[in-house]
Order: sequence, then structure tokens, then C-alpha cells
Amino acid sequence: MTQAGHRHRVVVVGAGFGGLFAIKALRRAPVDITLINGTAYHLFQPLLYQMATGILSEGEIAPPIREVLKRQKNVDVRLGWVTDVDVEKKVVSVSGPGIEYTVGYDTLIVAAGASQSYFGNDEFADHAPGMKSVDDALELRARIFGAFEVADLHTDPETIQRWLTFVIVGAGPTGTELAGQIAELAHRTLPGQYKHIDPRQARIILVDAIGAVLNTFGDHLSAGAQRQLEKLGVEVKLNTKVVGVDSTGIEVEDPDGRHRIESITKVWAAGVAAPPLARKLAEAAGAKTDRAGRVFVEKDTSLPGHPEVFVLGDMMNLAGQDGKPLPGVAQVAIQSGRHAADQIKRRLSGKEAGQPFKYFDKGSLATISRFSAVASIGKIRLSGFPAWLVWVAVHLFYLVGFKNRVTAVLHWAVSFIGRGRSERVATQQQAFARRAIRAYGDPFERERVAAVTAHRRENGAVPPRTPEVAREPLSVRE
Ligand SMILES: Cc1cc2nc3c(=O)[nH]c(=O)nc-3n(C[C@H](O)[C@H](O)[C@H](O)COP(=O)(O)OP(=O)(O)OC[C@H]3O[C@@H](n4cnc5c(N)ncnc54)[C@H](O)[C@@H]3O)c2cc1C
Repeated sequence: MTQAGHRHRVVVVGAGFGGLFAIKALRRAPVDITLINGTAYHLFQPLLYQMATGILSEGEIAPPIREVLKRQKNVDVRLGWVTDVDVEKKVVSVSGPGIEYTVGYDTLIVAAGASQSYFGNDEFADHAPGMKSVDDALELRARIFGAFEVADLHTDPETIQRWLTFVIVGAGPTGTELAGQIAELAHRTLPGQYKHIDPRQARIILVDAIGAVLNTFGDHLSAGAQRQLEKLGVEVKLNTKVVGVDSTGIEVEDPDGRHRIESITKVWAAGVAAPPLARKLAEAAGAKTDRAGRVFVEKDTSLPGHPEVFVLGDMMNLAGQDGKPLPGVAQVAIQSGRHAADQIKRRLSGKEAGQPFKYFDKGSLATISRFSAVASIGKIRLSGFPAWLVWVAVHLFYLVGFKNRVTAVLHWAVSFIGRGRSERVATQQQAFARRAIRAYGDPFERERVAAVTAHRRENGAVPPRTPEVAREPLSVRE
């Protein structure tokens, strides 16, 4: 019990790998947990590219958080974006759809992940969406399948080629996996389905400013991955920097100079940045952030000067055994989540806390295409089919929910043993909603502004914007 007479309150921001695994590790602890997440689902990001290319449905990789946690009685799941943290009063401010509320905590776990970084060129985002969310993947699905449809309507060869040229920026795991899958679509799935175009005529171009595909996997696997991509028909352009993106093409600079690639469909799979919440949290606590906005944390992953606040996963900057910052991968988030839960349990049982977080690197995996992957596990290096089998096993193990595992296997059979793609639907909303929302604005915010304007017109004064308290006892701490 805390001084205020209630059980120890743990607020968790983010239902990604970090947040979810911390919560699961606290299932038997004498704590009341409030999980606040911007969406109602947990997202298994490593399979987003399969959603974008029609293999898996959104439900398979994004199960409802409530369902995932339905047996855990000490958790209250709340929808909303945490906009601020008052580390002195121990209160988080949350903006939900049409409601703003506050929640008090005794311990706070912040695992809000990372967002896309365009390295200061945010204007690229309109023409080259990233792949971080379900919305991103659905929009990409609409763009990718839509490009083949539109190409089939045209007669001018240049226009057709522009619609059939796909440029993926970033040759890390995400870019590599996406390029491989678009190549499979063009060469395996779609041929024979169009009367006026040959989908095999599609150009799939993978661009990276550095000199290797999957550079973190080491020379041997990198070179193998590049060979496998090229065998699939992907053009790999390394040492090539993107300097401009517009609606019909992309400008690149390579050792030979500046060039333009005509392409309607571009995807940004390069660069991550911590969300704005990381900067706010760091400022509130006087902590430092790195160039990507990640918060420098203490050895136990807590915020400097605030042992009751843990910052996890993609949001934290913590040096690993080699002195380099731990990578933004699922295992770092999972293990740091479990570590934070362990520290909380130790503290509550009166044991010494503040143990350093030790990351155990279980290895790296990336698929190139069906039956082909690369794996780096300890000293073991695998490529081709054996690596792909390891990839299947690992992804099935971590995919949340039994039902999702079963249907994912069925969909993989459809796409990898057969040639089909079960999830090719892309609605107009998925293709255009982002621009429409940007132009129209958040509907709830519009309503609020309209109400304020009406109030001002009638009363000549602006109504006070008091936060609504969601529900006792989760209101502002006494
Ligand atoms: C396309 C893609 C492919 C990837 N592939 C791999 C892979 O193959 N292997 C691998 O190990 N890693 C992979 N990763 C990285 C891995 O997914 C991340 O490292 C991991 O998800 C980080 O976990 P996290 O808990 O820190 O954040 P996340 O899993 O990103 O979760 C953050 C959560 O916080 C929520 N949130 C964010 N801001 C707020 C806020 N202000 N208020 C409330 N909620 C908020 C989000 O909605 C989200 O649910 C991939 C990532 C992407 C994008």
C-alpha cells in the first residue's frame, strides 16, 4: 500500500513490446496498472511489410489490447495519447478522442516507441510514406496494388513505367523485406492478371546512402542478401543518397552525380526518431537526449534523478556491452520491459533495486523473399531456407494470440506455397485518408474549436479548458 491508502499504481505508456511485456511480468505483483495507448491494439511491427503487400490482414498483426490482457485482472486499459508528464506531481496528461484526462502514478513506465525520421526533410513524407503503423501499411497497400491498376489504364509507355517503378529508401531489414515482397508480387503473384501490362516489367529499386544491404548483419550475410535480392529482380543502388522526393519521382546523388528516378510509388524505410514525448520527459527531468531524440537513461533504464520513472525500448539510449547504444529492436524492448517490472517488484518487497539492465542479444533475422532469409545468431550465420525456417519459428512464437498464429500460417501457405495474396483490398479511405485528415483536421478538435467559438460569441469569453477527469481513482493525485 502507498501512503494514500491504495495499492501501488503503475502507469504504463505504450502497448508495444516494452509496455506489454512489462505488464505481463507484473501480473502477480501487488500493483494496479493503468495502460495508456494511443490505439486500441498492440502492433507487431516486424510483420507490417506483409500487411502492406497483401499477405496478412491487419487483425493478424494488431490484436486488441483488451483481448490480449483480458485475463490479467490488475490492468485497466485506456485509450489516449499521453501528451505530457509532470514528474514532480507524478501525473500524466492524456488526450483521448474528444476527452482530455489525467492519471496519477507511483511508478511510471514509458515505452512509446519510435516514429519515422526524414532527417529534417519532413516534406518527403507526403510522397514517400514510412511504415510504422497500421495506417501506414494500409496506405502503402493501396499505393502498391493501386499502381499496377493505374498502369493498366495507361497507353503511354513512359507513364506506365513511372507507375510500375517502386523505390524503397533504406536497405535495412524493413526496406529489404519490402523490396523482396514487391518483387515477388511483380514476378510471381500478379503476372497473368492484367490484359494491358506485364507486371514483370516493374522496376523495384532499393536505395541506401551507405554501402551495404542489411549492414548490421556483417559483410558475408550482407553480400548474400544483396545477391538474393538481385536474383529476384531488385535493383540495389548503394552509396546513393536521396536529396529530393516529389509526386512523380525521386532525386538521388551517387558517386556519378545527381540523377532522377521517375516513380509514383516511393516508400521511406530509413531513419527513426523518438516521439515528442521523449523530449518532453527529458526536459521535465533535466535529462539528455541523443540526436534521434532518445532519452539517456540510467543503467537500470530509469530516468536520471527519477528512479520511479522507467524509459524503455526504442525510446531509451543505453549503452550495451560494446559501448554502443542498444539497437531499436523488439528484444531490447521486451527485455527492458521485464527488467523494469523486476525492479518494481524488488522495490515493493523491500529488496535492493537499481540493478543494471543486461541485454542478451538473441541474434538478428531478416527475410528476403519466400523461403529465403538471413540469420545471425551468436556465432552462427545462416542464409537461404534454413534461415527462413528460423524466421518462421521466431515470428510465430512472438506473434500475439493463438488464433493469429493459426491464421498467419494459413496465409503464409497461400502466399508462399501458392502464389496468392489474401489481403489485396485497399479502400479509397486507406489510400487518401491521411491527406483528407490533414486538410480537414482532427474531427474532435474541430468540434472543440467550434464549441469554444460558439461560447465566445454568446458569452464574450473563452471557456476554461479544464482537463476532464476520466474516472476515480485515476484522477490527479491528491
Ligand atoms: C516496419 C518495422 C519492422 C521491424 N522489424 C523488426 C524485426 O524484424 N525485428 C526486431 O527485433 N525489431 C523490428 N522492428 C523494431 C521493433 O518493432 C521495435 O524495436 C519495437 O516495437 C520497440 O518496442 P517499444 O515497446 O519500444 O515500442 P513500440 O512497439 O513501437 O510501441 C510503442 C507503443 O506506444 C504507443 N504510443 C506512442 N506514443 C504514445 C503516446 N504519446 N501515448 C500513448 N501511447 C503511445 C504506440 O501506439 C505503440 O503501441 C521493426 C520495426 C518496424 C517499424
